[in-house]
Amino acid sequence: MTYEEWINEHKIKHQKLVSKLSYLSDMELVKYFDFDNMVKYEPDFCLLYKENTKCHDMETLNCYLCACPLFRLDKTKSFCDIASVNGGEFVGPDGFIHQDCSGCTIPHKIPYIEANFDKDWGSIMKNVVQK
Ligand code: SF4
Repeated sequence: MTYEEWINEHKIKHQKLVSKLSYLSDMELVKYFDFDNMVKYEPDFCLLYKENTKCHDMETLNCYLCACPLFRLDKTKSFCDIASVNGGEFVGPDGFIHQDCSGCTIPHKIPYIEANFDKDWGSIMKNVVQK
């Protein structure tokens, strides 16, 4: 599966869950996406939930903005739009430059999610894949 295909698939999954939770306020909705809550009530949302494993080593991790609206992917590389000081990069065997987000927790914290909130996850992620 390409990254673009994953984004499109995740968009549908996100939309379905947001629709199911339409009775919640915006901030209740964001809180619902807390990792521990999602593991308990939405086990099929992420493969990592089955192993109860977080993608980042954080005590409180929120999954609303998985993957990250600051991630960028074009034909030759992936990169961070704000060049996060906690980001990195590595070159794949094919010469493709990959952004390494493993040290950056920005999109998984509530203040950032609140500041960038939209029920339409696809519109938040609209700049990720660069055509
Ligand atoms: S933020 Fe991490 S744990 Fe949450 S859905 Fe995304 S990959 Fe899974």
